[in-house]
Amino acid sequence: MRTVKSAFKFKGGVHPDYNKELARAKPIEKLPCPAELVVSMSQHLGAPAKCIVKPGDYVERGQLIGEKNGFISVCVRAPAAGLVKSVEARSGAAGGVAPAVILDTTAEKPSDLQPSTFNLQPLDWRTASREDLLKRIEEAGICGMGGAGFPTSVKLNPPPGKRCEYLILNGAECEPYLCADHHLMVERADRIRIGVEIMRKILGDCAVRIAIEANKPDAIAAMEKAFADISGNVEIVVLPVLYPQGSEKHQIYATVGRIVPEPPALPIDVGCVVENVGTVAAIADAVEKGEPLLERVTTVSGDAVQEPKNILAPCGTKYSDLVAFCGGEKGVPAKVISGGTMMGFAVPNLEIATTKTTSGLLLLSKNRIFQYSSQACINCGRCVRACPMNLNAAEIAKAVEADDIKAAEDLHVMTCIECGACSFSCPAYRPITQFCRRAKNSIRARIAAEKAKAAAAAAERERK
Ligand code: SF4
Ligand code: SF4
Repeated sequence: MRTVKSAFKFKGGVHPDYNKELARAKPIEKLPCPAELVVSMSQHLGAPAKCIVKPGDYVERGQLIGEKNGFISVCVRAPAAGLVKSVEARSGAAGGVAPAVILDTTAEKPSDLQPSTFNLQPLDWRTASREDLLKRIEEAGICGMGGAGFPTSVKLNPPPGKRCEYLILNGAECEPYLCADHHLMVERADRIRIGVEIMRKILGDCAVRIAIEANKPDAIAAMEKAFADISGNVEIVVLPVLYPQGSEKHQIYATVGRIVPEPPALPIDVGCVVENVGTVAAIADAVEKGEPLLERVTTVSGDAVQEPKNILAPCGTKYSDLVAFCGGEKGVPAKVISGGTMMGFAVPNLEIATTKTTSGLLLLSKNRIFQYSSQACINCGRCVRACPMNLNAAEIAKAVEADDIKAAEDLHVMTCIECGACSFSCPAYRPITQFCRRAKNSIRARIAAEKAKAAAAAAERERK
């Protein structure tokens, strides 16, 4: 194992105020289980899980409450024991609505409850088969914890003909304010190492690259210690501090110099699998301890919270409980963001609950947010220079503003990773990222409608 500096720098990128000092020195604290949890069936990318409990059911910690519902889907287990009060539609941080199990964790366990039969047993990863390890990751409900939430058992099982040459651990955490992954690497480097051993067994004999931004020297030191005697081709790659260094495609380029082509190409098409360090630690716990993914570390920070913290909390914890654990609000927050300031979502209230992908919750005063209205483009080109995907962001924004989605598509808007670097750079405060998002949603809806129309026509032909 050796530590090297990144040899590749991607085009574009920006340097926002990182503000990580607010929570950087705060070790992970465990939140006492809240009295009520809101456990969404949609905590991942893909189809929401199918809820299999009903009001009045008593569930135990780790019990399956939502079944995986398709190839791209993930099961959901109860993050704590409790009584199902209701199953109702609840909004998520990104605005979508999905069924959620409302759990009363203060309810007494019924005396006639049958002994549990659902617990996962620890597995010895050295002797377990590849199939058993993949099955365990699936039944533990693990998805990517860096934000996208892609089902991990699917990602670790490349299609025939595709081989993983590089397993890349994403420890960049380039979003401002967030320190959750940083503290995981400092405090749980040993679990991340076990996770790597397990993933190498699943993926075959691949090289490992651990990508960490240079602003986390203590995390680099902790990982160097934990991986010191690991066998094989393993390197810690120290990345320059540059947003969006944590983007999957840019991390692949920064660590191994490979370029992922335009969608639908995936990292595996260039021989790479990228996993967030939190996901890797969750894999170790699921296999070695039989512990499903029930909780995660979330950074609660910003200048409008009393005491910023890194909190280990059950998935399903209401934001209000996290803020209360931090001593409450400081003044009046002007904006609450789920995630980081660059790619996170502004949320209307603190009644939304965490999921497996909630990396941060930010409470910002009016001094910390833009308060200028959008103006006409002055053709300065800053957004184009900042775009790490080489897009003409200014022209895309103008096309969407004129409702010309076809022109935006021709300008390759579908390759936009919604990183926010363009909006951040714009002196006219134009919401360029929102324009890109709107165009992408519109194109996706059109493609889905075309597919549905083609399927209906095929069914009609079949019927005749
Ligand atoms: S949000 Fe899209 S267009 Fe804007 S900088 Fe990022 S990738 Fe480029
Ligand atoms: S940064 Fe803003 S003003 Fe400058 S070219 Fe881009 S959209 Fe126009």
